[in-house]
Amino acid sequence: MQYGLTDEQEMIVSTVRSFVENEIYPHEDAVERNGEVAPEIAAKIKRKTIELGFYACNFPEEVGGAGLSHHDFALVERELGRGSMALTHFFGRPQNILMACEGEQRERYLLPAVRGERMDALAMTEPGAGSDIRSMKCTARREGGDWVVNGTKHFISGAEHADFVIVFVATGEDHTPRGMKKRITAFLVDRGHPGFAIRDGYRSVSHRGYKNMVLDFDDCRLADAQVLGEVDGGFTVMNTWLYATRITVAAMAVGRARRVFDHALHYAAERQQFGQPIGKFQGVGFQLADMITEIDAADLLTLAAAERLDRALPANREIASAELYASEMLARVTDAAIQLHGGMGLMDDLPLERFWRDARVERIWDGTSEIQRHIIARDLLRPLGA
Ligand SMILES: Cc1cc2nc3c(=O)[nH]c(=O)nc-3n(C[C@H](O)[C@H](O)[C@H](O)COP(=O)(O)OP(=O)(O)OC[C@H]3O[C@@H](n4cnc5c(N)ncnc54)[C@H](O)[C@@H]3O)c2cc1C
Repeated sequence: MQYGLTDEQEMIVSTVRSFVENEIYPHEDAVERNGEVAPEIAAKIKRKTIELGFYACNFPEEVGGAGLSHHDFALVERELGRGSMALTHFFGRPQNILMACEGEQRERYLLPAVRGERMDALAMTEPGAGSDIRSMKCTARREGGDWVVNGTKHFISGAEHADFVIVFVATGEDHTPRGMKKRITAFLVDRGHPGFAIRDGYRSVSHRGYKNMVLDFDDCRLADAQVLGEVDGGFTVMNTWLYATRITVAAMAVGRARRVFDHALHYAAERQQFGQPIGKFQGVGFQLADMITEIDAADLLTLAAAERLDRALPANREIASAELYASEMLARVTDAAIQLHGGMGLMDDLPLERFWRDARVERIWDGTSEIQRHIIARDLLRPLGA
């Protein structure tokens, strides 16, 4: 659905869509087969993204980004969502939390990340702390003017390519009436820094080639200059800068669902059984009708949430609704598309089974469906004192 887009927004959509069709689709099968992106392909995608002026398009113009609004960035993510995440990773969108860099950090991390010279990864999750991130065990203690970090992070996307990571660790705890709460601080840590190691993580059924890594901190000494934001202010930088990026999951789910839908629609029009295209059977046609209605609804929810951010309106509930609905919609749409393709839907000759596997993670990462429901319910009940 292209409701109400300006000419410039239409241009963004068509530019990114043809980029994905020409530079990403042709390499997807090889990534699936090999479980990784060939370095020369990664470099080519990055170079072409820079040439197009889309690298770090989520950053403001004053630091070298394209200065896109949240709405327009959601359009970009929606189109990128059509392609393999292992490959679109190199259509770089550094974590916008890097905008919290100050002084020398801007030269060392922010600006090189925006120029595509250095890649980042963001590490919060631990083996024992996922949804309940405040229960993290990774800590930094003060020693001789340094911070000494110990602990393990896992499931860290893209860390195999990262030149540095933004890691959240506990730097203290407060005893509150509602129990003990950890104070969290964000640090910037360079690959190769003593005491810091990146190793292979798990093999996921979703998004083959988009790896998740394990990060180990073993008496890793960091200077104050490595603190991103304020000491004990990790949640402030997180809420200030990561809040908006949650829209990405919803936007990508919409884009992927549209690609899946296109396959289903064409198959329904072409596949003949009982002497007619299967789409002419009401049971199949109605399924297509439900699929496109749900995709359009998710699209509208996503763009409306992004627009609220652009208008500086509260958007916590709206983002959670978009992420929840779009990720669950994608699961229903991919499942229906497999059914509509019959046995061929499960064969890896077609990309349907891949879309189905890839869809599964969307209800888990960046906050599970249950956590999104929790955010929505809390937002509704709090004003009533409940
Ligand atoms: C492929 C992949 C890539 C990832 N990339 C990154 C990354 O780059 N950086 C990063 O920091 N993290 C990353 N993550 C981590 C991701 O954000 C977490 O997996 C997610 O937040 C859930 O945490 P968990 O897996 O520990 O599940 P848990 O939190 O242990 O949840 C287990 C189950 O309990 C449910 N549950 C938990 N609490 C509640 C509650 N209060 N109410 C109801 N149900 C609840 C959950 O919904 C879920 O169903 C990635 C994960 C995956 C799978």
